[in-house]
Formats: sequence, structure tokens, C-alpha cells
Amino acid sequence: MPIPTGRHFLQIPGPTNVPDRVLRAMDMPTIDHRSSEFAQLTLEILKGLKQVFKTSADVVIYPASGTGAWEAALANTLSTGDKVLMFETGHFATLWQGIANDLGLEVEFVEGDWRRGVDPALVEARLSADKSHVIKAVMVVHNETSTGVTSRISEIRQAITNAGHPALFMVDVISSLGSIDYRHDEWGVDVTVGGSQKGLMLPPGLSFNAISTKALKASRSSNLPSSFWNWQPMIAANKAGYFPYTPATNLLYALRESLEMLLEEEGLNNVFARHRRHGEATRRAVRAWGLEILCLVPEEYSAALTAIMVPQGHDADQLRNVILERFNMSLGTGLSKVQGRVFRIGHLGDFNDLMLAGTLAGVEMGLAAAGIPFNKGGINAALDYLTKEA
Ligand SMILES: *Cc1c(COP(=O)(O)O)cnc(C)c1O
Repeated sequence: MPIPTGRHFLQIPGPTNVPDRVLRAMDMPTIDHRSSEFAQLTLEILKGLKQVFKTSADVVIYPASGTGAWEAALANTLSTGDKVLMFETGHFATLWQGIANDLGLEVEFVEGDWRRGVDPALVEARLSADKSHVIKAVMVVHNETSTGVTSRISEIRQAITNAGHPALFMVDVISSLGSIDYRHDEWGVDVTVGGSQKGLMLPPGLSFNAISTKALKASRSSNLPSSFWNWQPMIAANKAGYFPYTPATNLLYALRESLEMLLEEEGLNNVFARHRRHGEATRRAVRAWGLEILCLVPEEYSAALTAIMVPQGHDADQLRNVILERFNMSLGTGLSKVQGRVFRIGHLGDFNDLMLAGTLAGVEMGLAAAGIPFNKGGINAALDYLTKEA
């Protein structure tokens, strides 16, 4: 096995590459989180975060991975035995459903084939049939990171509205925030669940809830126990720039830096366009190789990652291992139901054309080295597109 040289290519769909300037921003003495200097930092960050979620509502920050913010969304708003509607779009939707079960909710989990997003018509039909409004919440994963499929959140919102149903609407944007357009207020979402380690280009360790007025109201009558996750003390302390417990101080320095990059320097619309362009270039490479994209619905292609199927009789994890050993690049594994059947290319976060070119070169050389049948020319197809769509 060759000794790895040069920079490791971390092309999994999260955690993503952390820009050097974000790492440098963290390299600071820890400060007193009860000082006025710290309060200024918090207030500045909360203002920026609201712009990223596109909301004027409250956003709270947990020193936790995304899973914590999943639990927080449910524990703050719902009560034991409440019925909720969820959709099996992939591994992450399944994990969130597991948390709902653990918390004592009654989950209606609509089966899926992991190759398409949530069908808005199905949401409308299911909610229209629920005349007595037994369903208290609808949960959807915006960008299903295990499959590279994005659900159409604004259309799903419209479906809920068309059904005239009062259920809360909760959306996981852990792998879309800061890479795919998302609008908490405009799309009428009640709780949005975000994380730090994907589009926001930070190390793992922070997660978020954006909270509508309706969700905040629901939290006053929820009976699921919550203490660490409880929104009320968090929102109260945040008003003056403080936290009810010790925040992840140095990750907040990092967040200030990445918000500056996304909002002030590149601009969110350019960030989204960059991701769409890299997604399209990647898919052109996949088609030229003669391989199959897992996502079946073109309007649901993820701009953040692409999941690619290997031909029957071949093992995607063996391909990933060859690529890691030979080219020092990590690609995403196939999770649970698609293990060994797919590998995933992350093209989100701190990323550019030449990083994509290098990534695709590693895949094309890896396919040959792993003995997987494919057609040459994927890299050229991608580069032609990048050149044309400069
Ligand atoms: C990464 C991810 C999660 C899980 O977050 P953790 O930080 O691992 O707890 C949840 N949902 C989606 C869509 C993700 O991509």
C-alpha cells in the first residue's frame, strides 16, 4: 500500500472539507462565554444564521451533531403517542424515524425505494384523508444524503396547505443548508433541522433548529421531556447573546468565518449555482462512464452529492477501498439498504472545478483499477461542461 502523499481528497458528502481560513479562525484562545465580547459574537452569528435559513424567526444552536437537533425538533413540539407522518427516502429519514419511535411517537412511515423524493401528491392525499387531524407533524429530509435525492419542499408545503391540514411541518436540511436553496419562512416550515459539517464547511459539532411561531406555540403544550434540548431557556438566554450552558465557543468562531464567506463574499445565490453546476458536471461524467445514477427523478437530483450504482456483481466498497489506497481519496459508502451497491461523490462545501476534476479522475482511474466495466471519457464530459458553462 503506497504511503499517502499530498492532500487527502475528502469527497464524502459530509463532513466536508474545512477551509484553512475556517480552521485558522478556530485557533483562538477560549474566551469567557459570559463576557460581553462573547455576547457580541453570538448575536452576530444568530443574525447570519437567520439569513442562511431565510427566516426572521428564532434559530437555536446546539453543541451537538445533527442527531441532537433531530431529537430537539420532536421533543420540543410533540406529546407522547402523537401520530406523525414520515417518508422512507433513505438512511437518514429512517434514522430520524427511529428517534421519533424512541421518543414514544406513533410513526406512520411511508415506504420508499430510495430512488426518489417525497411525492407531494401522496402527502396531500394522506393528509386530506385525516379528517380528524390525528397527524400532528409531517417530517421530510430535504437532501437525502444516502441517495443523492432532494425532496421538493415548497411543493410539499403546498400539499399540506391544499389539504387544509394543521400538522407541523419539519424539515432536515443538514446536508442542504448552504449548498441547495432553502427558505424556512417562505416555504412555511415550522422546524428546520441543520448541522455544521456539510454545506456550512465547519467541523462536526454544531446543529440548529429554526423555529416558527407556530412551533414555538406548540412547544408550550408538548409533554415529551426535554431539558438539554429545551428551546425556552435557550431562546431566552440568546436574546442577550448568551447560552443556558457552555456553548462550543471555538466552533462559533469557525461559524462566524463561514457565514462571512457564504453571505458576504460569495453570496448564497452564487453558492447554490456553484453546487448545481458541479452536480450537473458529475452526472455527465457518470453517464459517459455508462454507470447509473441512483436518483430516478431528474428534478430531484441533488446538487450536493451524487450516488452512483456499480454494475451487478461488483462491490462499491471494494472500489472505494482501491481509490482510497491508490489515490488517497475518500468517497461516501452505500448506507444500509444500498451497501455495496452504490458509492457517493460529495461535491458540496468548500469545492471548485479542479477539485471536481481531481475527484472524477480518481473515480475513473479507480474503476479501471477495480476491474469494473465502464466507458472512458467521463472526465472529458465533465470538463467540457465546466468549460462551456463557465
Ligand atoms: C449527516 C446527516 C445527518 C446526521 O447528522 P449527524 O451529525 O451525523 O448526527 C442527518 N440528516 C442528514 C440529511 C444528514 O446528511
